[in-house]
Amino acid sequence: MNFNIALIRGDGIGPEVTDEAVNVLNAVGKAFGHSFTFRQALAGGAAIDALGAALPPETLAACRASDSVLLGAVGGWKWDVLPGDQRPETALLGLRKELGLYANIRPAILFSELAGACPLRPELIGGGLDIVIVRELTGGIYFGDKGTGQDGAETYAYDVERYSESEVRRIGISAFEMARKRGKRLTSVDKANVLESSRLWRRVITDLGEGYPDVELSHMYVDNAAMQLVRCPKQFDVIVTSNMFGDILSDEASMITGSIGMLPSASLAAGNFGMYEPIHGSAPDIAGQGKANPIASILSAGMMLRYTFGLLDEAAAVERAVKAVLAQGYRTPDMAGATPGGDITAVGTAEAGRLIAAAVAAQAGQP
Ligand code: NAD
Repeated sequence: MNFNIALIRGDGIGPEVTDEAVNVLNAVGKAFGHSFTFRQALAGGAAIDALGAALPPETLAACRASDSVLLGAVGGWKWDVLPGDQRPETALLGLRKELGLYANIRPAILFSELAGACPLRPELIGGGLDIVIVRELTGGIYFGDKGTGQDGAETYAYDVERYSESEVRRIGISAFEMARKRGKRLTSVDKANVLESSRLWRRVITDLGEGYPDVELSHMYVDNAAMQLVRCPKQFDVIVTSNMFGDILSDEASMITGSIGMLPSASLAAGNFGMYEPIHGSAPDIAGQGKANPIASILSAGMMLRYTFGLLDEAAAVERAVKAVLAQGYRTPDMAGATPGGDITAVGTAEAGRLIAAAVAAQAGQP
């Protein structure tokens, strides 16, 4: 089968890690008899420099004409001087809104090979960790009414958190379906003791739960969830929460798994369309040095195979290839301290990508 992918390599380490994800996808194509056609498009700082806008219309058109989008990362010091509404990161909000990407899926998986990178005590994570956070991505306070004003001599500012029943219902369905395919436990995180929007959220999720009797639903306040994630992370299977709470909790969960360079994400629209990207940013401090970890980008491509293309065996092959390369002791510098005393070989971005692509090919018996 042929699949069309809009490729937004982005800024900083974005192009470096995305190129390795492309190499791995091409290895998947060769091993399983598919072809992937990549259509390059600009967003973020690269688009500001070349086309004068962080999210040019031709980029949106390229995304809409594709089956899915693979994004590196956007942003960097060079553009930090720009006003807020012109910065590279505005491209992300624009892509989410314009492409209707309302469900952000962030797995937080601790690979047993990297257990040493987890900052929690071993007994808290014994047997590994596998949590999925489903974050609402196009509503809530990040997209609500906002502004500043003057109250006498004092300046004030406000951001409005607003959710409709239908917004909560559609992310709730994504989360229940995800839980149904996994450990059948869903924790809905809100702040219903204080926020009206959270009370609506809790009511809609509770009602939805009646249609999923096989999924064990629980509710948790966000402050408690932040605490429980480090106190007893294994209690969680799938977490569903609002845009801002999800932003914060998913970064917290990512730290439990060691390096930010390991974690992929999917942002899904209705149907199978999705945008896939590592959770990390453009890492300007290491850009151009060939030492970024490409695994988050490669696993994002794996999520694309699973969620948009429905290629489950191919996705599993990518995940197995990553595990195999880690098990052989190869580490980019961010992971090098994760297995102290082990038989570790330090590798750069391109070599890590080549090894993972080769491990995919090896599964199909190809040299
Ligand atoms: P960051 O994720 O880019 O970097 C944080 C730290 O993690 C840095 O020390 C970096 O070197 C390291 N790191 C990140 N990815 C890594 C990888 N793959 N391998 C090894 N080390 C890695 O976060 P930041 O420094 O807060 O942001 C830098 C820029 O990226 C900013 O302009 C920010 O706005 C932007 N950003 C973009 C996205 C996105 O495009 N989705 C997300 C977050 C931040």
